[in-house]
Amino acid sequence: MPKSLRHKHILITAGPTWEMLDPVRFLSNRSSGQMGFALAKAAKRAGAQVTLVTGPVTLPDPKGVRVIRVVSARDMHRECLKHFPKTDIVIMTAAVADYRPANVATHKIKKTGKSMTIKLVRNPDILATLGKRKTKKQLLAGFALESRNMMAYAKDKLRRKKCDVIVANGVPAINARASSAVLIFKNSPSIKIPQSSKAQLAVRILKNIVG
Ligand code: C5P
Repeated sequence: MPKSLRHKHILITAGPTWEMLDPVRFLSNRSSGQMGFALAKAAKRAGAQVTLVTGPVTLPDPKGVRVIRVVSARDMHRECLKHFPKTDIVIMTAAVADYRPANVATHKIKKTGKSMTIKLVRNPDILATLGKRKTKKQLLAGFALESRNMMAYAKDKLRRKKCDVIVANGVPAINARASSAVLIFKNSPSIKIPQSSKAQLAVRILKNIVG
């Protein structure tokens, strides 16, 4: 890949978030972080200054990338808002939990009744927050992982969250080493990327969104 991203600041989110219920249990999403880490490596190789905000994953820090490890959606939200103003391109691959438990127990919750109800409250939508704050010079890319109606949901997300591009993929992409994807743009026709390793997919996504 040519050094096309020299002098560009890129902010990437990756992995799941953990929403703690007590000191032992949490709610989360299935996500390995591989796509975000692959994008961070590809952007670094293309000459960018990369900040990677990641939820809990077992992947090592990519060389030369500033890695910020967080736990919850609220932590990720805070870090993204902090770094956003000096960022040229934002790519959000993280599988952020939409809800968190309303209360976090100080101690491990013990089994008592036959069933139990957990009250959940909404987490901030990081991508939508950045979409609202985005300037004309900044490029915002989101991901959409859907188990049905992928294209329709992804197009809706593009509009609602004020993104420049949405990368849509299906459930088989989760935890997989390879995946296919469709890039859906605000102002130009969609591009299909066939099944490829996440490293190749990352390079193709970057080429298509930043030229
Ligand atoms: O609405 P949905 O969660 O499917 O949107 C997916 C996209 O939005 C992904 O790019 C994800 O990183 C981002 N997102 C976010 N904050 C949330 C939920 C999703 O940044 N709370």
